[in-house]
Amino acid sequence: MAGPDREFPLENDEATLERAQQQILVCQDSQALKAVEREYLGKKGVVARLLASIPQLAPEQRPQAGKTANQIKQAVAQAIEARQRALDAATLEAERSGAGFDASLPPARALRGSLHPLTQVTRELEDLFQSMGYQVLDGPEVELDYYNFEALNIPADHPARDSQDTFYCDEQGHFVMRTHTSPVQVRAMERLTPPYRIVVPGKCFRQETTDASHDHTFHQMEGLVVGVDISVAHLIGAMKTLLRGIFKRDLEIRLRPGFFPFVEPGFELDARCPFCQAGCSVCKRTTWIELLPCGLVHPNVLRAGGLDPEQWSGFAFGLGLSRLVMLRHGIDDIRHLLAGDVRFLEQF
Ligand SMILES: [Zn+2]
Repeated sequence: MAGPDREFPLENDEATLERAQQQILVCQDSQALKAVEREYLGKKGVVARLLASIPQLAPEQRPQAGKTANQIKQAVAQAIEARQRALDAATLEAERSGAGFDASLPPARALRGSLHPLTQVTRELEDLFQSMGYQVLDGPEVELDYYNFEALNIPADHPARDSQDTFYCDEQGHFVMRTHTSPVQVRAMERLTPPYRIVVPGKCFRQETTDASHDHTFHQMEGLVVGVDISVAHLIGAMKTLLRGIFKRDLEIRLRPGFFPFVEPGFELDARCPFCQAGCSVCKRTTWIELLPCGLVHPNVLRAGGLDPEQWSGFAFGLGLSRLVMLRHGIDDIRHLLAGDVRFLEQF
């Protein structure tokens, strides 16, 4: 067998070729063939070394030596190809005749991916809302300050801007990473002709210190219904349907007053803890879980969207998708969701 440390010059002749052909003929699979191919035709293989040794020969010997090296190269390549074809044919024949086939062997384990739990919940809710006549809309993640704040009744000097710890994208503060999905409310009003119902699932961003319940990136689903004489009763009805869809049963709910500049009146909606009767760690022993902020659309927001508040009214809600996924799967740290750790994701 030729080794990398073989002395030069090699016998530049039929003996080399013959040896190669013998090696090729005994190969039983492609892997062995590849090894022979490397040995003879590789970068540091026999042929390469033959060619490299030519300059050391006497000038009159060089043309013949070059020719022979190339002949060996071609012949070896052809022999390898022929052997591969023969091996393929034999494999095919064996498969056809059933030889080597054992029906009792377990199948090879297929590697399967799965949808991210956030994607699962988002799709489920999209289906649920579409079945209730909602359209699913999308909006930009890099948003104009106008849509993220001003059109939502949050003027420049409003304290809500401080509390929202915004990522600004330019020095003038015209562009922000949206801090909620609510900007799509006004974008939708500008485009759609009422009455309509929309939901907007998507990413939101806050510049805040991360901990088990806060991450710089999280997912929300905005909901907006615009029509004539929309009241808190409509809001409660829609929220009950939503909860039934999520938790697969009726949950008692309660509304507490909540202040959000873009709704009036605004509420915090709590639901009875679906996991316990008398208090657990999820509901912090209160049997209520804080689920979503909601309310009737503020007249200023309707005006920003080009609607007359005398004629049109609506309700809006902001569902925390990240929180919902955590509730559903008992995940105790929001940072797991976007960490990209396969060991975590494989559980879903
Ligand atoms: Zn509980």
